[in-house]
Amino acid sequence: MSFVLTPPAQVVVPVSDGRSFPVHRVYCVGRNYVEHAKEMGHTGREPPFFFLKPADAVLVVPEGATGEMAYPSQTANLHHEVELVVAIGRGGRDIPVAEASQHVWGYAIGLDMTRRDLQNDMKKQGRPWCIGKAFEQSAPIGPVHPIARTGRLDKGAITLHVDGQLRQKGDLSELIWSVDEIIAHLSSAWLLQPGDLIFSGTPAGVGAVQRGELMECAIDGLGKLRVAVR
Ligand code: MN
Repeated sequence: MSFVLTPPAQVVVPVSDGRSFPVHRVYCVGRNYVEHAKEMGHTGREPPFFFLKPADAVLVVPEGATGEMAYPSQTANLHHEVELVVAIGRGGRDIPVAEASQHVWGYAIGLDMTRRDLQNDMKKQGRPWCIGKAFEQSAPIGPVHPIARTGRLDKGAITLHVDGQLRQKGDLSELIWSVDEIIAHLSSAWLLQPGDLIFSGTPAGVGAVQRGELMECAIDGLGKLRVAVR
C-alpha cells in the first residue's frame, strides 16, 4: 500500500507481564462517585454518561517510572482525577450486566487530567467538553494488569497524593455504577471493541496541580502511578 502520509503508530500500553495492550478507544464515565458528584454540584443517581478522549491522549508510564506531563496550553486550572481504568479484551453490543466481566481483560491506574476552567466555560455555554478533557497527554496510564492475575476489582482503596499530601481518597466499592453496569450501558450506545479503555470515574477531592508537582496515584492490587507536571 502506498500511503501519502506516514500512518500514525498504534498506541500501546505495557502489560505488567511484559506484553503490550493495543488501545482502540478511550471512554470516560462522568461523576461516578457520590462524594465527587456532590463536589461538582450534583446529587442523586443519574444515568451514567460518557465522553471520549482520543487514543493518542494516552501518556504511557512504565512500571516503576515517573511519567512527565507537560502543563497544557490555555488553562490556569489543571485538575487531577485518579481513576480505575478497565481494559476491554472482548468486544460486544448490548452486553448484559451478568456477562460484563467476561469482556474485561485487565485493569490499570489512570489519570483523567482536566482543564477545569475550559470545561466549566463549555458547560456554561452548553457546548461540548472536548477542549477541557481531550488534549495531548490528558490520559496518563500505568501498566495493564491482567484480570487473570488480579481477580475482579470491585473493592479496595483508590488514592491520589500531590507532593506527599493526600488529595483524593475513595474505595472502588463506592462506584455509583459498577464496572459491569458501565460495560452494559456503554455497549448499548457504542459497539465495544477489544482494546477499548474505560476510565470509570474519580472519587472526591479533585483539585489543581501546578508545574513542578508530583502526583502519586494508588489502587489496591495495581501498585502506583507517578506523574510529574513540567
Ligand atoms: Mn473523570
